[in-house]
Amino acid sequence: MTTLLETRNLTAFYGDFQALFGVDITVGQGETVALIGSNGAGKSTFLRTLTGLLPAKGQDIRFEGQNIAGWAADRIHKAGIAMVPEGRRLFASLTVEENLLIGASGKRAGPWSLEKVYEIFPDLIAKKNNPGTALSGGQQQMVAIGRALMSNPTLLLCDEISLGLAPKVIKDIYEAVPLIREGGTSILVVEQDVGQAMAVADRVYCFMEGRVTLSGKPADLTKHQIAAAYFGAK
Ligand code: ATP
Repeated sequence: MTTLLETRNLTAFYGDFQALFGVDITVGQGETVALIGSNGAGKSTFLRTLTGLLPAKGQDIRFEGQNIAGWAADRIHKAGIAMVPEGRRLFASLTVEENLLIGASGKRAGPWSLEKVYEIFPDLIAKKNNPGTALSGGQQQMVAIGRALMSNPTLLLCDEISLGLAPKVIKDIYEAVPLIREGGTSILVVEQDVGQAMAVADRVYCFMEGRVTLSGKPADLTKHQIAAAYFGAK
């Protein structure tokens, strides 16, 4: 497997508060990797550090062989890392289609287009001229994912995409994952629902208090190991 992303001994701080302690994570080309862990474990902080939203100067974040630590967020985006933020953050005054097109600014060459986004999320076709915020939570999440795909990322980061959504809607959204991978995009997803993470990911990393406490292929991890890594249970 060719390595797409690799962090070595990554740390992160909010002022004096240390949120990450020596995190080593790899994502291979074509892989779907899930980050699990309870509230405050450091998963979102890890994504923010990758995307340049938190300072990472002097650290080691290899993406396609280059050290991107310390790069500005827009340079990292242009290099091929796109983020679906927690809470979707659609533009309220813009339509669904306009929200999607915003994602295409600074677009790289690749397979993604409006048509392709509508192909994986057909629910959006009838809504394309509606304001993005007039949609259901699940449809808003589809727009947020589509918007990130419009830049043709090599790596898609998704922060808590199933939060607050009904099980049927979560299923619809996760059904798009294989289609996204077919387009050549690797996926790193933060998921609080452990069952969902195990079902979708090739490999899983569990975070606790800013450290990776467990990693492996879902089939190789026992419930007991996961509980210990997630809650610190003995
Ligand atoms: P959640 O599911 O709640 O988002 P998480 O695993 O993503 O959890 P983070 O949001 O990365 O966790 O938080 C890691 C730690 O950093 C927590 O202790 C949190 O309180 C702290 N933290 C997060 N954001 C900030 C911030 N903007 N300022 C200060 N501390 C923060």
